[in-house]
Amino acid sequence: MRASAIIVAAGSGTRLGSGEPKAFVKLHAHPMLHYSLATLAATPHIAEVVIAIPGGLERRTREEVARASLEVPVKITSGGIERQDSVRIALALTSAESDVVIIHDAARPFADATLFARCLEAASARGAAIAAIPVSDTLKRVADGVIHATVKRAGMYQAQTPQAFQRRLLVAAHERATREHIIATDDADLVEQLGGTVEIVEASAINMKITTPSDLMLAELLLTSKKPR
Ligand code: C5P
Repeated sequence: MRASAIIVAAGSGTRLGSGEPKAFVKLHAHPMLHYSLATLAATPHIAEVVIAIPGGLERRTREEVARASLEVPVKITSGGIERQDSVRIALALTSAESDVVIIHDAARPFADATLFARCLEAASARGAAIAAIPVSDTLKRVADGVIHATVKRAGMYQAQTPQAFQRRLLVAAHERATREHIIATDDADLVEQLGGTVEIVEASAINMKITTPSDLMLAELLLTSKKPR
């Protein structure tokens, strides 16, 4: 299997309120981006990496890439307005010779190489696979601060990244999204809308997405309880 990896790191991180793009906010002395790059360096089958970043951060990104000791070519590009735009731009830079593309949010620093490998294997064998966890809380549909419905949680999962796809399937899904103005919050949704089957790879709540200052605090605590990379 030959895989391309895309790291989307072009978000502004407004909800984190730290004054700089989220992927460059320090987490346990390293920019958040460092953790995804370190994981990729330990993941088998990765033949190239494309990183989407906010404009103007090329030099800092290159420094992080150099620290990560990746043994494969790395391309750096400016991302787009929405996450989907950043993925589309990065996808266009991946090699057509790759069988599989794996996409990961820099905002999830705790995804490990085993999780990447499981998604890659499943996508290579059966088309598409994403990290996800079963919902454990009771879900309420709310409007104006009032509950309108309780949503049955049986069979409900929270989607995470990494998300891996056979490249031709992902390219077709993004081409259709552009053509038909489809907007989705993850790539699995675009493939689902194309009629593709997307498999779940059971992950862990530790693969959290850092969005708010309290997420960042929790992530720091997790890293102090683990051996830092
Ligand atoms: O904003 P949110 O945390 O949901 O973004 C998920 C991931 O997508 C982050 O890693 C962020 O950097 C990335 N992103 C991007 N381009 C955008 C918006 C978000 O690469 N325009």
